[in-house]
Amino acid sequence: MKKIFMIMAMTAVLGSAHAQEVAQEIAADNDFQWTIDRFGDVRIMRYKVPEFENLPLEQKLLIYYLSESALSGRDIIYDQNFRLNLTIRATLEVIYHIYQGDKTSPEWLAFEKYLKQVWFANGIHHHYSGDKFVPEFSQEWFEEFIKDMPDDLRQDVVPTIFDPTLYARRINKAAGEDLLKTSAMNYYEGVTQAEAEKFYAKMAAKNKKDPYPVAYGLNSKLVKQKGKLTEQVWRIGGMYSTALERVASWLEKARDVAVGPQKDVLEKLLKLYRTGDLKDYDNYNIAWVRDTASNVDFVNGFTEVYGDPLGIKASWESVVDFVDVEATKRATIISDNAQWFEDNSPVDQRFKKPQVKGVSAKVITAAILAGDCYPATPIGINLPNSEWIRRDYGSKSVTIQNINDAYEASSQGNGSREEFVLRAEDRERMNKYGRLGQDLHTDLHECLGHGSGQLASGVSTAALGAYYSAIEEARADLFALWYIADPKLVELGLVPSLDVAWAEYAGYMMNGMMTQMARIDLGKTLEEAHMRNRAAIAGWCYERGRADNVIEKVVENGKTYIVVNDFEKLRVLVGKLLAEIQRIKSEGDFAAARDFIEGYGVQLDPVLHAEVKQRYDALGIAPYGGFVNPRYELVRNEDTGEIEDVRISYDESYAEQMLRYSRDYSFLPCIN
Ligand code: ZN
Repeated sequence: MKKIFMIMAMTAVLGSAHAQEVAQEIAADNDFQWTIDRFGDVRIMRYKVPEFENLPLEQKLLIYYLSESALSGRDIIYDQNFRLNLTIRATLEVIYHIYQGDKTSPEWLAFEKYLKQVWFANGIHHHYSGDKFVPEFSQEWFEEFIKDMPDDLRQDVVPTIFDPTLYARRINKAAGEDLLKTSAMNYYEGVTQAEAEKFYAKMAAKNKKDPYPVAYGLNSKLVKQKGKLTEQVWRIGGMYSTALERVASWLEKARDVAVGPQKDVLEKLLKLYRTGDLKDYDNYNIAWVRDTASNVDFVNGFTEVYGDPLGIKASWESVVDFVDVEATKRATIISDNAQWFEDNSPVDQRFKKPQVKGVSAKVITAAILAGDCYPATPIGINLPNSEWIRRDYGSKSVTIQNINDAYEASSQGNGSREEFVLRAEDRERMNKYGRLGQDLHTDLHECLGHGSGQLASGVSTAALGAYYSAIEEARADLFALWYIADPKLVELGLVPSLDVAWAEYAGYMMNGMMTQMARIDLGKTLEEAHMRNRAAIAGWCYERGRADNVIEKVVENGKTYIVVNDFEKLRVLVGKLLAEIQRIKSEGDFAAARDFIEGYGVQLDPVLHAEVKQRYDALGIAPYGGFVNPRYELVRNEDTGEIEDVRISYDESYAEQMLRYSRDYSFLPCIN
């Protein structure tokens, strides 16, 4: 639920103070290659892990063990995304290894591109749009290589790859259709949407009376067997056991070197993997959120529900990280003032938290990305997702600094700002303050936005159904947009002037109304929660501000531009919308949620869509980015065998890393 992804289109920010630092760093380190691959609509980057070398050995070891645990869960996300993904990945990799032909031929290049896309998406559906990839090599060419495959498998694999009507989408969110039957994701089997909803409605009803409800259905697949619905729980001894055993065995090593409360956190996580009991999940989350002292931290488990059209079942993911001390000072100022922000928001008093608890905000350095966070990765994370744990124990919020730095360093001077920003004054403001504006937006969204507000009694977030994720993201974004333009930020010393806010406003509206369309295939609509929320916020503000010409669509020389004419008035609109979206969440107003998202956040203007894509193509910018991980190796004493250090290196190519992961971390059978 709580992730922010980089808005790729607007990350060329050379000129800001921070960018200059990065630029100097690059100059000093010419050998470091940030962008290492490019295919389809994607580019692959490396990220650095600054200060890793300077950590004490026990923390390096902790990171190493947690990283091995993270990588051990790799297969799970493939299987969750679609039940034939592991079979197809294995098939493609065999062809990749045995192919002896011309590696410059169009068929081979198309095949290689397809395999790289499958790796990137952890399956055959696009990681963001959820649409199935279209292979650009022929079925005949492909079938030459799989002659020896068992008939039944071949009969599954070939049409799955080549028939465009089969398993066309990973997640269908189009209202009116059976969302489970029309979605290829693997969280349900032989179950209709009505049956699943009925199955979980009972638990939801029980939850209503429980002040400490569990996240029912979160860590299991729902299947129909002999006419009966059963949950296959993801735990050791249950579904995905062979991978989870490996995940757990590395967690045990991590626990053995962990100190202080973290030992107990890891013990509780291990218990959860053994029992699969959602009460254990809550106990683990409470211990995890209370540990704000440990320098090294991690996410490891079934966490986010974006991949389930019903928003119940969680994908497996892991991130290992440690504190970026310098950058954390910024986030600390924000979280120290959390109550002030809550009290002064334009939200109805009834929906404000009387006491904001423990918003711990950190800026971190990611050391490994895995599962659903790899290779495409969030730039901010706010967990846990349980509303009552957030209410009673607070949440941990992080911004991932080194990933942001890598985006920035690799996209310097790509020309997007010159192409899409009409007015020189806006461009200058964005060049100067765009990066700071984005960092602050992320901090405010994660540290405060998601944690703010409260539900009316008896209302659960399930009331908003399939619109919940987009509404929740809109709420956090609006909170950030409202406060980034507050004089309080100047007073706190976080920004030199409100120009930072106006840079963010101009970029946000342009992205929501226009530039993010570059990421969507022609003819498609917006599906993903964050994209929907950005389009909805921008579209709503555009329409409501029309009489005053607050936001204007300008066409010059056949090119469309989005221009904010009145920043102060735009902020007033943001405040009004924040109050309304908080009301929708707090009261569980499904109809209003649907009208807002369907009205502003789904459909694209086909003419503008085509124009934006054409302009991006002309610039040669890939709309999506992702990362390869660094590689960690234990260094042992030659005589005693004792571990003396953990070495980090950055020399793997994208394909090398993927093939190594498939070789070393394939712990699930092809069909689960
Ligand atoms: Zn969020």
